[in-house]
Amino acid sequence: DDDILRARGLIRVVHDHPEPGIAFQDITPLLADARALRACVEAMVAPFAGRFDVVAGLEARGFLLAGAAAVLTGSGLIPLRKAGRLPAPAARADYVLEYGQASIEVSEDLGAGDRVLVVDDVLATGGTLAAAHRLVAARGASVAGSACLLELDGLGGRDVVPDVHTLIGV
Ligand code: IMP
Repeated sequence: DDDILRARGLIRVVHDHPEPGIAFQDITPLLADARALRACVEAMVAPFAGRFDVVAGLEARGFLLAGAAAVLTGSGLIPLRKAGRLPAPAARADYVLEYGQASIEVSEDLGAGDRVLVVDDVLATGGTLAAAHRLVAARGASVAGSACLLELDGLGGRDVVPDVHTLIGV
């Protein structure tokens, strides 16, 4: 699709961010482009049409895509937040980072029986998305699918979350 190719060309690689040796994939130029943004959000949700009730977005860049996906599909929006940010967290999932650990939380607004589309910007090792799946399960909800804009090849994310739908490999 032409607009997804256009989107691929709008990813900016920032070297040595946030640390020396890291090539950071910056989606800001893609978000700023109306056609690319719409095409990407449409393509992220397309395989799951009619199969989810809410879109859950991962803090922080996942929020941007999840909000758009929720409005586009007439779904509710659930933020999956870094621990300590929600005023009334109802469940928490911990996961391991390269150095140290992290946790995400969700409010009671994600309810038992909800069918959830989980959305994030980038799939790297898959740790974040796997934690999101555990968080959804901890609320008695079910994962209808997961979608990320970018997939970083060679980091093993696809082994951790084999069914994730991604648009652009880098
Ligand atoms: P993972 O848990 O290792 O799969 O890392 C995915 C998370 O890290 C996502 O929430 C991304 O926002 C973030 N991330 C990792 N690498 C990049 C990158 O190159 N650009 C933007 N976000 C990234």
